Amino acid sequence: MAILNINNVHLNVEEKQILKGISLSVNKGEVHAIMGPNGSGKSTLSYMLAGREGYELESGKVLFDQMDISTMSADERAKAGLFLAFQYPVELPGVSSMNFLREAVNSRRKYLGEAELNHLDFVKEARRIAKEMLIKDEMLKRYVNVGFSGGEKKRFEIFQMSMLNPKVAVLDETDSGLDVDALKIVSDGVNNFRSKENSVIVITHYQRLLDYIVPDYVHILADGVIKKSGGPELALHVERNGYAGIINAA
Ligand code: ADP
Ligand code: MG
Repeated sequence: MAILNINNVHLNVEEKQILKGISLSVNKGEVHAIMGPNGSGKSTLSYMLAGREGYELESGKVLFDQMDISTMSADERAKAGLFLAFQYPVELPGVSSMNFLREAVNSRRKYLGEAELNHLDFVKEARRIAKEMLIKDEMLKRYVNVGFSGGEKKRFEIFQMSMLNPKVAVLDETDSGLDVDALKIVSDGVNNFRSKENSVIVITHYQRLLDYIVPDYVHILADGVIKKSGGPELALHVERNGYAGIINAA
């Protein structure tokens, strides 16, 4: 049974049709990569899944864990275990990273009927995972994403994901702006998170990331539709030959 089922989704942004009939089914434990040229609608798809205002469906349906997400607020989606890491992480001046994360973790735990973590246990867990992501304590004391470098923002997103343990994580260009060392840290974070119980959608336009996070399936998105799906070899084909051949053939 699919944990995430995107069925024939159409979506307009400011009256321009951006998603033109996307269908994608993700089962528990699978890692899917979505690749595609600039402007193909990848980030629009992630905003739609997150429930961002202005990204409501024109038609089609999305089921997350058997629930129709159009009936769920952004907050409810997050609590239910749908995690989005955006291409351009949002800065939250005045909101401490630790408090932000504790709130998010505890509201997810509450949703799951688990006891909230007390301050000490939370800090312990946060420090343990932060260390793996090479995130310094000092960074956790800062406001969310404020003054973080591009790479720090991306590492912080994966850190959040690890703390929240979502059912489905959608990572939009988490590799962009990372040097090789940071890319390795982020990929290790994703690979550690990977399990039979959860699923990942990695959005990227470089094949490079997929050397580190090896997907089960690769989809090529162009002009608001999935033009072709395949295995990891499809990403290598794109790396060698570009998108044009696939897009024209479709
Ligand atoms: P990708 O992430 O694949 O590069 P996007 O989803 O960001 O693509 O953008 C898809 C298309 O939507 C592009 O043509 C872009 O110009 C358009 N678009 C994105 N945001 C807006 C907006 N706020 N208003 C109008 N058009 C937009
Ligand atoms: Mg994008």
